[in-house]
Amino acid sequence: MNIETLTIAETRRLLLSKQASAEELATEALAYAQAENPKTNAYLHFSPERALAAAKAVDAKIAAGEDPGALAGVPVAVKDVIVTKNLRTTCASRMLENFVPPYDATAIERLEAAGGVILGKTNCDEFAMGSTNENSAFGAVRNPVALDCVPGGSSGGSAAVVAQGTAVVSLGSDTGGSIRQPASFCGVVGITPTYGRVSRYGLVAFASSLDHIGPFARNVEDAATLLEVIAGRDENDATSAFAPVAGYAEAMRQPVKGLKVGLPREYFEGLASETGDIIAAAVEKLKGLGCEIVDISLPHTSYAVACYYIICTAEASSNLARFDGARYTYRSPNSGTLEDMYRNTRGEAFGTEVKRRIMLGTYVLSAGYYDAYYRKAQKVRSLITEDFRKAFTEVDAIVAPVSPFPAFKLGEKMKDPIEMYLSDIYTITASLSGIPSMSVPAGVTNTGLPVGLQVLARHFDEAGMLRLARAFERG
Ligand code: GLN
Repeated sequence: MNIETLTIAETRRLLLSKQASAEELATEALAYAQAENPKTNAYLHFSPERALAAAKAVDAKIAAGEDPGALAGVPVAVKDVIVTKNLRTTCASRMLENFVPPYDATAIERLEAAGGVILGKTNCDEFAMGSTNENSAFGAVRNPVALDCVPGGSSGGSAAVVAQGTAVVSLGSDTGGSIRQPASFCGVVGITPTYGRVSRYGLVAFASSLDHIGPFARNVEDAATLLEVIAGRDENDATSAFAPVAGYAEAMRQPVKGLKVGLPREYFEGLASETGDIIAAAVEKLKGLGCEIVDISLPHTSYAVACYYIICTAEASSNLARFDGARYTYRSPNSGTLEDMYRNTRGEAFGTEVKRRIMLGTYVLSAGYYDAYYRKAQKVRSLITEDFRKAFTEVDAIVAPVSPFPAFKLGEKMKDPIEMYLSDIYTITASLSGIPSMSVPAGVTNTGLPVGLQVLARHFDEAGMLRLARAFERG
């Protein structure tokens, strides 16, 4: 078995042709992942008992002649911000180092019901705040493609395991680019679905109006399969949408000839780089597939970084108030008074970036500044959404870069948080407007670093987005 290159379809074939049992596959995949993990630090912890129990259940179904599910026996990794019953969920934070959740997230329930085998939980930036995975309390992740480089973030571990071949697919979360950007940096496919498409029940909240769960995979088809499994209305999440889930596998096979694809001019200003060349070649490829390329404008793009970092910090400051020492495991040993407990627990267990965001968010929400910052950011958010609405009256999809540059060296941008924030410019507009977006590998630089093409579509048009991405992938 070639675990590093396995796909969902091949896993299915192996199991149904009885070349391997799910239990054998899980055992081998776990051993391989555990042996390879020290190279990247992509997994934080493994879940062998859970994996083997899930695999045995798949084998029993196959033996009984039942349908073992769309993800039967598939080794899956899960970002450690998604809660798993009886399995530690740390959010890569000292605050939750020993937190064992009493329930499963809906996405977890659905993927296990479909036969998925969870190998373990992946590293990430603390509470999903970051763009490089260097904000983890348990050490940075290395990019498997270039071990001296960052894998991107915040879902760096989930992208890395798929690129490294230590999981077939994985789940990540995206608030402002945390699926697409690491997918681009590691050379894998990553999907941020429409806001509300996938239930966030059991996703530890960072910024609730922006948080998404989505899949990583080595090809578009696998990512679509995982998305279809986890998508759809969930009674436990009031923001999950009633919109029916399309059969993505079928929809993806429709031709792309004649599709109108928008190129937002604001995304290409100042992109005279190798990344720019790779994206330009990708656009030529789409032309070759018969797409009509249309020049479009998303005029409020330049306000997106400021807008995003006001809204996400505001929401984070409120969401993270629950980590106070009274609940969720960590409590400072220096908790003589209630106030000491709050101050010392939060002071000791949160990392620098999390503290920075809580302070910024508290500031923009405070009386006197609320109107100047938070309310204004909400207005700007509406304008950015309106930019996309107008663009989608002219085009069927939009393509763009994911990041201004490919993976950079570990440590290179840690000193300057503003520079780090600015690198999110191409991903956060879609997050603010709630439209679906994804990264599909487009090429590599001269030094072998992957560059992803971002594909964006109308709300709930994952099928159209996947169709274009799959046609592009197949060239
Ligand atoms: N890099 C962005 C941030 O730091 C996005 C993070 C995310 O999507 N979770 O907020």
